[in-house]
Amino acid sequence: MNSKINILRSDHLGEKPDQKNLVFGKTFTDHMFVMDYREDKGWHSPKIVPYGPLQAAPSMLSFHYGQAVFEGLKAYKTQDGRVLLFRPEKNMERLNKTNERLCIPTIDVNFCVKAIKQLVSMERDWIPDAPGTSLYIRPFIIATDTTLKLRPSTSYRFMIILSPVGNYYPQGINPVNIYVETELVRSVQGGTGFAKFSGNYAASMKAQAQAEENGYVQVLWLDGIERKYVEEVGSMNVFFKIGDKVLTPSLEGTILPGITRDSVIRIIKRWNIPVEERKISIQEVYKAHKEGLLKEAFGTGTAAVISPIGELNWKGNKITINNEKTGKIAKKLYNTITGIQTGKIQDDYGWITEI
Ligand SMILES: *Cc1c(COP(=O)(O)O)cnc(C)c1O
Repeated sequence: MNSKINILRSDHLGEKPDQKNLVFGKTFTDHMFVMDYREDKGWHSPKIVPYGPLQAAPSMLSFHYGQAVFEGLKAYKTQDGRVLLFRPEKNMERLNKTNERLCIPTIDVNFCVKAIKQLVSMERDWIPDAPGTSLYIRPFIIATDTTLKLRPSTSYRFMIILSPVGNYYPQGINPVNIYVETELVRSVQGGTGFAKFSGNYAASMKAQAQAEENGYVQVLWLDGIERKYVEEVGSMNVFFKIGDKVLTPSLEGTILPGITRDSVIRIIKRWNIPVEERKISIQEVYKAHKEGLLKEAFGTGTAAVISPIGELNWKGNKITINNEKTGKIAKKLYNTITGIQTGKIQDDYGWITEI
């Protein structure tokens, strides 16, 4: 796709929020990217226009049958004012895997990375530069046919909106407690667990709400068939250090293939720490804890990068990890990845794209 992106500039620019009080996903920048799909034209008419409300018919398909998918990544400002993206092509490749599962036409990866760059570049004054802050980038696609007939839409809208976000750890990186969900499930093989599909998140809210009622920050999901194998945490992949090995659940179609997960695996391998991607039963984690072999546990995802786990509650058994302190590997991974993302550490992996 080689279309030119038309630009319509906003004539009233919004006020930039205070960098110290950024609330996730609340403020949006002045412009957004929009591109439409029609069967006869394919993806067409890419444009950057003022951020604002959409007009949508009440019969629009995505409202009724949920054909809606998304991605999430960030732009970072370096100390010397450059703007960096972290592996953006991976997000667009994953969006296409999601699209395929949801019968949504695939997008042109290179063109969409270009669109992200052009939009972020236009909005560079919105990128905060205080430590830990960034500009969150939310590409998403909705089905726009106006019909109640249950079928894949023949028209779609792809959009990218941007939101300045604060430091996830204003008080420094610290562990969270997590409730192991043993009733509700997030996904099964053959389902949509590997896709960043809106419905997955709607389906996970009840377990999350129950965990919060019990004083836990997040849910650890178990597999949908036996409630036996560990899957992932909320919107993060999960890692355990048992003995001298690092373990993470293998990708079997039920968990989200996180880009942070992939980066963590590659970094740990370079550090010559053994990493295993395989099925991990919650019983194995519990047993390792009982034997004193469970050294660390942490989640990985774009939002927090690394989120250490201080306690797991599995059927009332409290599994305390590393005295509820951030482990060595978690800390080092956090410093390494955020260092690469913000240009403080040399990128030996080819992960950084400068805008
Ligand atoms: C987005 C997401 C992740 C993390 O993916 P990253 O690419 O590392 O941000 C993990 N699990 C779920 C369910 C997610 O939605």
